Amino acid sequence: DSRLQAISEAIRVVPHFPKQGIMFQDITTLLLDPKAFKDTVDIFVDHYRDMDISVVAGVEARGFIFGSSIAIGIGAKFVPLCKPGKLPGEVISEKYVLEYGTDCLEMHVGAVEPCERVIIMDDLVATGGTLSAAIRLLERAGAEVVECACVIGLSDLKVRRKLNGKPLYILLEPR
Ligand code: IMP
Repeated sequence: DSRLQAISEAIRVVPHFPKQGIMFQDITTLLLDPKAFKDTVDIFVDHYRDMDISVVAGVEARGFIFGSSIAIGIGAKFVPLCKPGKLPGEVISEKYVLEYGTDCLEMHVGAVEPCERVIIMDDLVATGGTLSAAIRLLERAGAEVVECACVIGLSDLKVRRKLNGKPLYILLEPR
């Protein structure tokens, strides 16, 4: 796809953020390029348009940016998966393990109906820990997780194993 080169070039790589040794993929510069941003959303919309998806679930915070745009594009609802304490209604939560410590994602009870076909959106997958927690959360609510989608995948076999066989759709694989 000829659009991918420009999308890749619009993403800034920031060395040693948020700590020493990390090459941070910064999608905020992609958002400053209206054509590359629209092309990114369009590629996902074209991919999911005819897959009978009724929910796009986005991971806070960068998953909201792409996920809500894609939801509008395919005529699906958007469900935010939030860090603890951000949602005002009744929630279900799912903890997951980080390199240091744990984190948690929450979703409003009733946001997803049983058997709805869902895609989960984030900007980037590294270890797959965040997406696997999101999958567990949606499946506990009875939804069918069709696929996970990310703009960037630092993806290898280990990640795919962690997603428990769920397909992963990524646009860019740096390195
Ligand atoms: P994982 O759980 O190890 O797959 O990490 C993915 C999560 O960390 C996602 O929510 C990303 O937004 C965030 N993340 C990790 N590295 C980066 C990066 O280089 N750029 C942007 N987000 C990142």
